[in-house]
Amino acid sequence: MNPSLSALGGEATAFLARPHLLYIGGRFVPAADGRTFGTYDPTTGQYIGEVAHAGADDVTAAAQAARAALDGDWGALPPSARALLLSRLADLIEQHAGELAELEALDAGKPVTVNEFMDIPAAVEHFRYYSGWPTKIEGGTLPVHLPDTLCYTRLEPVGVCGQIIPWNFPLMMAAWKLAPALAAGCTVILKPAEQTPLSALRLAELIDEAGFPPGTVNVLTGDGTTGAAIVEHPGVDKIAFTGSTAVGRQIGSRAGAAVKRVTLELGGKSPNIILSDADVEAAVAGAFDGIYFNSGQSCVAGSRLYVHRSLYEDVVDRLAEKTREAAVGPALDRSTMYGPLVSAEQYERVRGYIVDGVAAGATIRAGEVPAAKPEDGYFVRPVIFTDVTADMRISREEIFGPVLVVTPFDDIDEAVSLANDTEYGLAAGVWTRNLGHAHSLAKRLRAGMFYVNAWAVGDPAAPWGGLKASGIGREMGRANLDAYLEVKTVWTIHGTE
Ligand code: NAD
Repeated sequence: MNPSLSALGGEATAFLARPHLLYIGGRFVPAADGRTFGTYDPTTGQYIGEVAHAGADDVTAAAQAARAALDGDWGALPPSARALLLSRLADLIEQHAGELAELEALDAGKPVTVNEFMDIPAAVEHFRYYSGWPTKIEGGTLPVHLPDTLCYTRLEPVGVCGQIIPWNFPLMMAAWKLAPALAAGCTVILKPAEQTPLSALRLAELIDEAGFPPGTVNVLTGDGTTGAAIVEHPGVDKIAFTGSTAVGRQIGSRAGAAVKRVTLELGGKSPNIILSDADVEAAVAGAFDGIYFNSGQSCVAGSRLYVHRSLYEDVVDRLAEKTREAAVGPALDRSTMYGPLVSAEQYERVRGYIVDGVAAGATIRAGEVPAAKPEDGYFVRPVIFTDVTADMRISREEIFGPVLVVTPFDDIDEAVSLANDTEYGLAAGVWTRNLGHAHSLAKRLRAGMFYVNAWAVGDPAAPWGGLKASGIGREMGRANLDAYLEVKTVWTIHGTE
């Protein structure tokens, strides 16, 4: 038996015993063609269970159910009722936090304690924040040039939204997508990643329990072909995608050809800069968490570290010391801070980059090249590379694993030019005691998010997203509500009688 299963509580065990079906039109159903796929535990590599694999017919059924809800019971709800449902869902997630944290650990390899203090509360907060919005969506009255005219705007839901998410923060990504769409009055087809379908299916049960009208949210499990069918479906008005830049480019071009609304949250290779006047202890702690949190499987991973030459050796030594102490282990072990990578494929990919870095002439200052074939789970201990050049693949490409490249610089202009030398533009940051330097760098670095003496902090009220190849649009805050609304202009020429 898979040893992870013995660490699960009763609720998670009971969920695993139920069939893992699609959620369409308020019913849990098998795929129309009966197809299924297996989901696996990254801690042990062992099989967990079978999950329904949605195909094109299921996408059509979900699109029809979502349209019917939009034109029917969901669309007819007053804003206050939408708010109440969102808030009820937040409460249900909170009540089932322990179970969800365990399922996420089992299916995604994410440490259970990290899920408890971050992923699950962040999902709850997201639904709570957006539950405040439905009652505050207002159009405007416009000062047009024509006399005796009333011109006003209505903000209306975009319609049926296809939402496609990755495996690195499965439940949190579902919350980031669903909450603003539902607040705006849209209906949804959500597709979790094929590596991590379980928490979205448990969320579907909670959505059902909360009392959302059937068809408001539909959850289709499956792989990229399912995602592509959602993108192509003519009954889907908008695509919201979080994932790799390669897939984002494909989705953007397909959505563009169909003139569908599209928002893309993509990858990054984010630069973190330590200036000579930084608080070194805080900077090292921040740089360490910035890259190694979630075993480096984070879109905002601070994967390129630039350190002023006067601090360079000290910072590398301190980071290396911390990597040796990192508690890497089974995701359901409560002492684990860094779990395995999500899959054999991701292990192979990250290992390939480490091998490539060594072959290109970089030096491994901490960590090691992982074994060609892992004995059990997909564990990679934190790696630090020095002696890197800007043209190496480990410096340029998103590795999405616990691999940091560290480079010295001599002055701020050099740091800015090294940091901006990337196709990405998701996050950037600086560690300094000098506010002038901090805010001048906030302006000069090309990124959607900038951190001063911090890394990867976030809040549902604060926009999140990137420039350049890191995406189009923003999650969170008013910005992401607007991304699910269309503006309609209404003209009335009423005369004076
Ligand atoms: P991925 O692009 O391989 O897959 C993401 C999702 O897209 C999955 O659900 C997958 O099934 C689906 N998909 C794959 N091919 C598709 C296609 N042709 N059409 C439609 N859907 C398709 O990404 P991943 O490996 O699961 O996730 C890692 C990536 O996500 C990283 O690049 C990371 O930076 C990015 N990410 C970005 C953010 C952000 O906020 N910017 C957040 C989390 C992750």
